Amino acid sequence: MTSDPKAPLTIRLCEPRGFCAGVDRAIQIVVLALKKYGAPVYVRHEIVHNRFVVEGLRERGAVFVKELSDIPEADRERPVVFSAHGVPKSVPADAEMRSMFYLDATCPLVSKVHKQAMRHQRLGRHVLLIGHAGHPEVIGTMGQLPEGAVTLVETVDQVTELTVPDEEKLGYVTQTTLSVDDTADIVTALEQRFPALTAPSSESICYATTNRQEAVKKAAPGTDMFLIVGAPNSSNSRRLVEVARRHGAADSILVQRAGEIDWQRMDGASVIGISAGASAPEIVVQEIVDAFRERFDIKLDLALTVAETENFPVMRDLRDTELAAADMAFLNGAMD
Ligand code: SF4
Repeated sequence: MTSDPKAPLTIRLCEPRGFCAGVDRAIQIVVLALKKYGAPVYVRHEIVHNRFVVEGLRERGAVFVKELSDIPEADRERPVVFSAHGVPKSVPADAEMRSMFYLDATCPLVSKVHKQAMRHQRLGRHVLLIGHAGHPEVIGTMGQLPEGAVTLVETVDQVTELTVPDEEKLGYVTQTTLSVDDTADIVTALEQRFPALTAPSSESICYATTNRQEAVKKAAPGTDMFLIVGAPNSSNSRRLVEVARRHGAADSILVQRAGEIDWQRMDGASVIGISAGASAPEIVVQEIVDAFRERFDIKLDLALTVAETENFPVMRDLRDTELAAADMAFLNGAMD
């Protein structure tokens, strides 16, 4: 008896996708710190918004805490890593007050936004931060400046209601992981209302966010479904779902692992797209492609827009730390 032939399916696989240089660096910092200083290494908040990565690091001895005060007194001398999203200034200050040893894994491109915000303030401007309330990066950026120095703007609709101290002295920055198109709309509305508004010295939305959105825009037209590999609390992954829908995908969903896929929703599909947010490891993308291969006769098309070469080195203290084969396998498995 022969089984039914598999239905043909074209998968448009976006490139670039998945891990960015900031996420790579943050994960390396935790793995290297575990190797150099031994377990436990504490990590304030999820180092990146991905369960697969967080669980892998936990198995290696990382302990995730919400606040520094959650670290037991007996472990106060253990290293603590701050996440790639950045932290308010009060956090390193608190660590110093408690005589803790910390490693700051804030992405250099988030630090750049912090500096842009501080520069606006130094030049006497009130800062408008375009971003999503409650996101760790927004909390970190707002926390670079004294209370009241930053006003958060989330939508175009909010622009008409804004009250600012002086309309002639205003500067803006943005979260790094926003929708490029939505942000442009908010900036336009702000510039119309406040003609003296000063832009940051360079774009705050990072290369990885921009590149992943561009690749999805290229791949989305005509797809029956677009899968974005990423976590529900990952801002850049959620933006990719929106971008796919707006640019021609009939539907788009966020998935964290192949086991979550509702295969009934794939019935009748002839073309699907796949991409991954900046915190989603490649190993999960391949797991999902393999799950499609088991059920369909797949043809893989690469939707390539640009080759990324960015690489952010870890801090000097960790650079010479040699990793064991198992740690290298974890890093490579997640990042290849
Ligand atoms: Fe850095 Fe952009 Fe990656 Fe965020 S998404 S960690 S800003 S490179």
